[in-house]
Amino acid sequence: MSRKYLVTGGAGYVGSVVAQHLIEAGHEVTVLDNLSTGFREGVPAGAKFIEGDIRDAAKWLDSSYDAVLHFAAFSQVGESVVKPEKYWDNNVGGTMALLAAMREADVRKLVFSSTAATYGEPVSSPITETDPTAPTSPYGASKLAVDHMITGEAAAHGLGAVSLRYFNVAGAYGEQGERHDPESHLIPLVLQVAQGKREAISIFGDDYPTPDGTCVRDYIHVADLAQAHLLAVDAATPGEHLICNLGNGNGFSVREVIETVRQVTGHPIPEVTAPRRGGDPAILVASAATARERLGWNPTRADLAGIVADAWAFAQR
Ligand code: UDP
Repeated sequence: MSRKYLVTGGAGYVGSVVAQHLIEAGHEVTVLDNLSTGFREGVPAGAKFIEGDIRDAAKWLDSSYDAVLHFAAFSQVGESVVKPEKYWDNNVGGTMALLAAMREADVRKLVFSSTAATYGEPVSSPITETDPTAPTSPYGASKLAVDHMITGEAAAHGLGAVSLRYFNVAGAYGEQGERHDPESHLIPLVLQVAQGKREAISIFGDDYPTPDGTCVRDYIHVADLAQAHLLAVDAATPGEHLICNLGNGNGFSVREVIETVRQVTGHPIPEVTAPRRGGDPAILVASAATARERLGWNPTRADLAGIVADAWAFAQR
């Protein structure tokens, strides 16, 4: 059955891929994005576009919408450390306004783009949703605050909500891929080296307690991530706030990622060892058992070489 969805942040990387999947599934999609970090051309063909701020969501939200998928947020860990107020204002203040608009318009389903950064330094691996949350950055803290807000909204006002805690999203889908300005993520940066746009990739620390000394992350294909959102919107149950990790449960080290890029691109990729980056846990790997059980999620693109190949095709456009 075709439904009508508001996608906030639908001009950004993950939001645009999810909006594209919703359209392909036959739904009506409105993208709300202030283009502060998104790109107008990221809005998929077939979506209605509103250039506006989530703080003003009440202007556009009405009871004709079946659900909101909420991606609009600032997402740079390092920036959040130096400008925490920017993160509280947009991520927390913006979401408060959005929740109020949803209450007012009686839109009672929400899928929220949360993050592994809500956990901070893991106490065990893989990370489950019942593990302690102790974020190590204002970014993670702002996303955790929103998760708490949503829990209260579900309990007090009957919202049906699912928070999806992403691990390391990568790859591309259709016309949409990862691009940030400035770029800080490992895979797009290594691909810039392959393209000759950078001389070498810096490895941030090679003395971590991991098999090769470099940090281990759980990379998930953006299309698998998008599928989880379609399942989540159907699973949202009035009065319940479900939290699900999204990852493949496989960890790859920074060195393994660089080696995979060498194999996929055929480029030698010079590397240099650099100091550790502040706030990086040694290992972040998800248990996605909850997403599998509760959403019926079954990722099909877990292969790192395939994820890198899709990102490489996008980088070469
Ligand atoms: N990393 C690196 N060099 C870079 C960028 C990232 O060694 O130029 C490392 C980073 O320290 C982390 C991993 O790659 O251990 C993944 O970082 P990314 O920023 O892609 O994602 P995060 O894990 O911070 O969400």
